[in-house]
Amino acid sequence: MANRNEIPYKIYLEESEMPKAWYNLRADMKEKPAPLLNPATHEPASLDELSAVFCRELAEQELNNNDAYIEIPEEIRSFYKMYRPSPLVRAYCLEKALGTPAKIYYKFEGNNTSGSHKLNSAIAQAYYAKKQGLKGVTTETGAGQWGTALSMACAYFDLDCKVYMVKVSYEQKPFRREVMRTYGADVTPSPSMTTEVGKKILEAHPGTTGSLGCAISEAVEYAVSHEGYRYVLGSVLNQVLLHQSVIGLETKAALDKYGIKPDTIIGCAGGGSNLGGLIAPFVGEKLRGEADYQFIAVEPASCPSLTRGTYAYDFCDTGMICPLAKMYTLGSNYIPAPNHAGGLRYHGMSTVLSALRAQGILDAVSYKQSDVFAAAVQFARVEGILPAPESSHAIRAAIDTALKCKETGEEKTIVFGLTGTGYFDLYGYQKYNDGQLENYIPTDEEIAESLEKLPKF
Ligand SMILES: *Cc1c(COP(=O)(O)O)cnc(C)c1O
Repeated sequence: MANRNEIPYKIYLEESEMPKAWYNLRADMKEKPAPLLNPATHEPASLDELSAVFCRELAEQELNNNDAYIEIPEEIRSFYKMYRPSPLVRAYCLEKALGTPAKIYYKFEGNNTSGSHKLNSAIAQAYYAKKQGLKGVTTETGAGQWGTALSMACAYFDLDCKVYMVKVSYEQKPFRREVMRTYGADVTPSPSMTTEVGKKILEAHPGTTGSLGCAISEAVEYAVSHEGYRYVLGSVLNQVLLHQSVIGLETKAALDKYGIKPDTIIGCAGGGSNLGGLIAPFVGEKLRGEADYQFIAVEPASCPSLTRGTYAYDFCDTGMICPLAKMYTLGSNYIPAPNHAGGLRYHGMSTVLSALRAQGILDAVSYKQSDVFAAAVQFARVEGILPAPESSHAIRAAIDTALKCKETGEEKTIVFGLTGTGYFDLYGYQKYNDGQLENYIPTDEEIAESLEKLPKF
């Protein structure tokens, strides 16, 4: 047992201490997340139906509500060893700058070329596609991290990778696109004229800057209409949260090594995969009555699904071809303002996190982007890492929690997920530095109008 008084700046695990199985939180949930529904019949989507869109083993993982642990195949564990375990860092310098009695830790997932946690699931999904003998996979990417991660994973397993990239990001982030192409991916700005659904969306909304929902529809259409292709998704799905549990398992192992028990665990939430993965083993303890923690999801005020959305069945994509999911949603037609630079643009939220929210286990807060970038800059200057704007939502909430501790004198232990680096987000930083970052917060009417189009049955 290490000396508890000497917590190093970085807590690393040995390779031998890395998780050998992913943790499937659904197994410990008494009230399971609502099942995905077939959009035509409104019946729960079957394994065969899901296997037409997703790789077979991933579809099995999607539906698996029973096995608490699913072994990580050896090939994936070897790939993980190239960039994992990721460090759990004690933010001594940030604590000092804030003058807080709180202890702050962050789990840093930006130590790989793709720059985020998304590689944890990308490599798993590429592995199962290869194992099934597929030619390739299709996907969408918003800010570009998922597409980059998937390109790396596909290059590793020699798979074709077709990426539909939200148009606004394609134009704002040419370097992301080049990283993907360097790893061999084919990148198309979405909506595009290469799919029927893309043509329809362009007809209805000429000049649209695109959305994740549109890009998903295009990627799915390409996959189901081309032999040997399947669609893969970088967030939201149960299987993705399962793969991302590697973050939480490592975090817990590192904390346990030093006998540290967190009070509050914080993560940014787009579709919910990093947060779902980070908190999974801790939520499991809470559900089993073994420990108690506070969990906080942090989202942008411009895309506030958990804090201002409705818990209902909705389409996962704008084209309404994917299964329906019961989730906190702003409506599948919701498109955040184009001046939103902070990522986390998806209209819905993972069904697992949505269920935890509905059950009162997960708290949620939202911040406007100027406050998020202010936290990013403060963090970068004292901790050295240039954070992704997405991650900076979690930083904002961690700083505010620590500042509250300063008022109350509480010595809380705070853990947050630092999901990635911001080198490809300098357009957003530039706007912030120039004082030109505008906040956009949707009105209740705008949200209500979008929610009117929820499927009714
Ligand atoms: C994609 C991404 C997120 C948000 O996705 P989740 O599925 O909600 O985790 C957060 N941070 C970074 C750096 C990302 O790339």
